[in-house]
Amino acid sequence: MTTTAFALEPTGIELRFRKTSLVAREWLTRSYVRVRLQGDELRGFTSLGADDHIRIFFSDGDPQSIDELRAAPSREYTPFAWDDDWLELEFAIHGDPANGTAGIAAAWAATAPLGALAGVGGPRGSKVLTGRPDAWFLAGDETAVPAIRRFARAMDPSAVGRVLVEVTDAANELPIEAPSGVVVEQLHRGTTAAGATLAARLDALTADDRPAGAVLGFVAAEQSIVKPGRALLLDRWGLDAEHTIVKGYWKRGETEYHAPH
Ligand SMILES: Cc1cc2nc3c(=O)[nH]c(=O)nc-3n(C[C@H](O)[C@H](O)[C@H](O)COP(=O)(O)OP(=O)(O)OC[C@H]3O[C@@H](n4cnc5c(N)ncnc54)[C@H](O)[C@@H]3O)c2cc1C
Repeated sequence: MTTTAFALEPTGIELRFRKTSLVAREWLTRSYVRVRLQGDELRGFTSLGADDHIRIFFSDGDPQSIDELRAAPSREYTPFAWDDDWLELEFAIHGDPANGTAGIAAAWAATAPLGALAGVGGPRGSKVLTGRPDAWFLAGDETAVPAIRRFARAMDPSAVGRVLVEVTDAANELPIEAPSGVVVEQLHRGTTAAGATLAARLDALTADDRPAGAVLGFVAAEQSIVKPGRALLLDRWGLDAEHTIVKGYWKRGETEYHAPH
């Protein structure tokens, strides 16, 4: 059944590349850091969709052209907050930057000196929310928290729904500020494989747990979450596919994973 309470409308935006510098770093937990990038080239930056992503380029030098900037290694991140000439991102820090087991992006976010250059490409398109979902269902691991926090910012005070966040343990919980009608659960994976705890929680939800009406469903975490995410939102709950976003945000054992769009 197609409902009309809201839509996630695909909207294109002109792709631009910008040079910025790292100006601040705030550790929110021992494995999660918010960084602020700043630069005149950020003027005009905007991001219309809560699950937008941009490409961050980590360059050693000072690239003099867009081609040089784009030649640097890059990874995908969610624009978390921005204003005139700054942009904040949140990075899940995996592995150990000190012994080379973290990826390029995680190591950069954890250790790059203030003043380090970062290129920003995009966003190139957004799913723009229009109207009002009757209920929200948001689930993800640390990498999806910036998008979940942005969706939560879009809720009005009488919003209802459920948010599931998988983190390692109590010390690494990532609070989501949401209206009182939205239940937020932090799931602890402990030493189990990333995504397994969240997948089990999704598998445990039945057709009876479906919120009424037009539900916005967002599920993003390690790639293996895609199957249980679709099984819940599309098969058991029968949500309109156009009201759902289910994505692998990274893939175990794979460097620079590109999520299919
Ligand atoms: C649309 C989209 C939006 C995203 N937004 C964010 C965001 O806002 N914040 C954020 O932190 N991430 C986000 N990600 C995920 C991020 O792009 C990946 O985690 C990326 O691979 C990290 O790059 P890296 O250089 O640190 O590691 P890579 O060099 O890409 O990978 C090195 C190794 O680390 C593993 N790995 C990668 N990420 C993780 C992880 N999170 N936990 C454990 N192991 C990992 C890989 O499997 C690989 O074995 C997003 C991804 C997508 C597709």
